[in-house]
Amino acid sequence: MNTLVWFRSDLRTRDNTALHAAACANHGCLIGVFILCPQQWKDHHWGGPRVDFLLRNLRALGAELKRLNIPLKIVRSNRFDGVPQALLKLARAHDCAALYCNSEHEVNEVRRDDEVRAAFETDNRQMHTFRDQTILDVADIRTQAGGWYSVFTPFKRKWCELFKSGDELKEFAPPQPQSSSKVPADEVPTQLAGFSTDADRKLWPEGESSAHQRLASFVDQAIADYATRRDEPATDGTSALSPYLACGVLSPRQCLRAALAVNHNRVDSGKKGVATWISELIWREFYRHILIGFPRVCMDRPFRTETERLRWNNDTVQFEAWCAGATGFPIVDAGMRQLAAAGWMHNRVRMIVAMFLTKDLFIDWRWGERFFMEHLVDGDFASNNGGWQWSASTGTDAAPYFRVFNPARQSERYDPNGAYIRRWVPELEPVPANRIHDPDAATRGERDYPAPIVDRSKSRARVVEAFKRLGGSR
Ligand SMILES: Cc1cc2nc3c(=O)[nH]c(=O)nc-3n(C[C@H](O)[C@H](O)[C@H](O)COP(=O)(O)OP(=O)(O)OC[C@H]3O[C@@H](n4cnc5c(N)ncnc54)[C@H](O)[C@@H]3O)c2cc1C
Repeated sequence: MNTLVWFRSDLRTRDNTALHAAACANHGCLIGVFILCPQQWKDHHWGGPRVDFLLRNLRALGAELKRLNIPLKIVRSNRFDGVPQALLKLARAHDCAALYCNSEHEVNEVRRDDEVRAAFETDNRQMHTFRDQTILDVADIRTQAGGWYSVFTPFKRKWCELFKSGDELKEFAPPQPQSSSKVPADEVPTQLAGFSTDADRKLWPEGESSAHQRLASFVDQAIADYATRRDEPATDGTSALSPYLACGVLSPRQCLRAALAVNHNRVDSGKKGVATWISELIWREFYRHILIGFPRVCMDRPFRTETERLRWNNDTVQFEAWCAGATGFPIVDAGMRQLAAAGWMHNRVRMIVAMFLTKDLFIDWRWGERFFMEHLVDGDFASNNGGWQWSASTGTDAAPYFRVFNPARQSERYDPNGAYIRRWVPELEPVPANRIHDPDAATRGERDYPAPIVDRSKSRARVVEAFKRLGGSR
């Protein structure tokens, strides 16, 4: 009998919990499988940048597995509902008694896995799942009263209390090469219809080695200054590892391990830069905790249910201007153009553009969430939903509704010389720093740059009023 290892959002051989466990179980040969679900991905708003990155990493994974004599099978099932039968067919064809995979936590993914388990058990085969997406088991992190956390700081406190460097960071070695398999590997497609992208691939080289090089150079060169530089979009002050984490080319344990190695094993003390970066990894865990504890956020619903009564101003013309980076607010336009060109946006700017859409334009956060998902190379449901709901003040531990970023003040503060704006909004290139954040009408005319699409002196009052009508204090 053989064993199937089902890869999903864990496209790596190193430190892969399920792969390691399957190899240790020693049930015949390992056979890898990945299931392409193009229609389901469309339903989940995955876009070209993410799918292109996924396919490139899948090819890299196939090559790594080949070195270990583990064939990677590629199966296609348009939607999740075809997955149980597709896997069962493969298991029967190759005499696999067991299926190993790492857990995913989104609602549709959980349902899919329940159905796969039922199908396997009915067929006298086993399915083994493992926690791998997070460092700690975030479903087990509970308040004193046994409830789910909805505020980050106490969640983080508890996380740090529970974390004991040791077990959680045990590195799972890749399997030893097995004797050569008779099962042929499949070709990984280079592209899938409906998922094209113009975003710059060179920014995101595929493969585990590329991810590890990036992690090593970040820890070597930038982590020490992370606390002070992470908000400056013009500099490379952050790790840019999010696409690798989203596809699981890198594990969060590997990230934490590298950070702890330069911080005397301390999680929330020691070097400020390192502790701040680790805190971001914990934000990632927090949003997964929210996803599991409050599955309604997976169903297009806000965390704060009373905000379902908000009547958003869904103006399609303004939305299109936001999408195109033509709002007349330079930092917003710079961010949206970075997203289109790079498939990625700096975190500070993500917050600025998201708040601008949901507060100044008062457009439904779900429109922005979807647009991000369609254009990000690092699109990750939990973090994207968490970030959008934070910005829109509909989420857990969200920005208070009366806190509305002023885009010009934000860019004066975080991009004082306008370097980020100049890079992404080249028509403003010659404008001096003291005028670039909010150019006057004459400059806009000369530079062919649009007038602001909204009057900010009125827009804040509109959103504050709408939230006030809901009642409550936040
Ligand atoms: C509106 C909005 C949408 C977002 N959408 C996504 C998304 O789809 N995918 C995604 O990975 N992140 C998302 N984020 C979170 C954050 O912006 C990115 O994780 C970060 O910018 C990635 O850059 P980095 O790898 O250089 O991060 P670093 O600053 O180097 O942080 C290291 C890692 O920690 C995690 N992380 C950092 N900040 C956050 C955060 N606020 N929430 C959750 N995890 C975090 C990421 O995995 C990141 O790679 C979103 C934030 C906002 C405000």
